[in-house]
Amino acid sequence: MTPSSQGSGAPAPCALLVVGIGELATPRGDGPLGGAALGRVDRARGQAVACDGDRILAVGPEPELRARFAANEVLDASGGLVIPGLVDAHTHPVFLGTREGEFEQRIAGRSYVEIAAAGGGIRSSLRGVRGADEAALVAALLPRLDRFLALGTTTIEAKTGYGLTVADELKGLDVIAKADRHHAVDLVATCLGGHDVPPEFEGRASDWVEVVAKELWPAAASKATFADVFTESHVFGLDDSRRLMESARDVGLELRMHVDQLTALGGAQLAAELGARSADHLEHVTPEGIRALAERGVQPVLCPLVPLYLGESQEAPARAMVDAGLAPALSTDFNPGSCYCMSLFEVMSWGALRYGFSADEALTAATLNAAASLGLGSDRGSIEPGKRADLVITDLTSAAHLTYELGRSPVRAVVKDGRVAWRG
Ligand SMILES: [Zn+2]
Repeated sequence: MTPSSQGSGAPAPCALLVVGIGELATPRGDGPLGGAALGRVDRARGQAVACDGDRILAVGPEPELRARFAANEVLDASGGLVIPGLVDAHTHPVFLGTREGEFEQRIAGRSYVEIAAAGGGIRSSLRGVRGADEAALVAALLPRLDRFLALGTTTIEAKTGYGLTVADELKGLDVIAKADRHHAVDLVATCLGGHDVPPEFEGRASDWVEVVAKELWPAAASKATFADVFTESHVFGLDDSRRLMESARDVGLELRMHVDQLTALGGAQLAAELGARSADHLEHVTPEGIRALAERGVQPVLCPLVPLYLGESQEAPARAMVDAGLAPALSTDFNPGSCYCMSLFEVMSWGALRYGFSADEALTAATLNAAASLGLGSDRGSIEPGKRADLVITDLTSAAHLTYELGRSPVRAVVKDGRVAWRG
């Protein structure tokens, strides 16, 4: 009989036992969960979670787990809600310098496209990244990861895209790799070589597309999991986007795409045709686009704060997507221009307010579905034995409170890879 067998013998050692949990709320399975399953969250009271190494060993009634395990460390949740570590499936965190001046201009009535045409927008961040060395960019990124962690986010997808030369994009990927090694938060790297047309290629976007296809993607393939493009007529139209994404796929990169954000260009259909992992934004997606995504099982990554932040009225038709069986993720789209927010709690609230998501639906979208969109659904995104021990201990009384409160972080402690990585 092994020491961990239930019922008899000495308690098995484990590194961490989380007790005093008011409510434990988690989706189940390897995801992604779409349609009616989006809101299928298990909620149970009086549970405990045993962790060892970087894994969850057991989840069950607290008295039972206290009898089964002798823990090195006991973490008391003080009656709070415990949820899986949040997963942010769309961020642009590699940049130097903020763009609050542009925010003021937008509030005063200028549009995102007007500001970009005047040399602002993505191009103003280009100057910062190109002028900085790797160490300066890592030094700017690490405090942002501290803030993600304090807000309960344990994994982020991290895009480059503010370099837009081959060397500066590769530098961005090296920054992401270094930050991943030096910080508890896990980063999944995306090379966003198709973020914008670099100023040197003004008026000849297709020439930059060829540089990306022939030089950047092959060099990025060993450093990134995903390639990404901003598919929009003022940046990369459907033909350029297709060339970018097919050439990325040819060197083994998986695909994420910014599509149908500002206009109904048909990017969702292209993402479906190409078998992208995710189609992101989708404010202007058409019913045909939703059908195409559903047929290919492409996950929408929705960013409800972005239209709010940009002063745009069009919302992603999230409920129609869920009704079509799609499995959306909710993300911040954290970036210096169109959404300076790192809080998935805030995003879950806006998912409720703008999309009509229930708290359970929002929780699945910000955990298991987000992890699944990164290819990590069997490793994280829910609180189940065998999964990575990433947990958020909050001071909330139940999961229903998740979307109810705005403007305050409810995070009391964060467990990452089985260790208490942050305490409030
Ligand atoms: Zn983005």
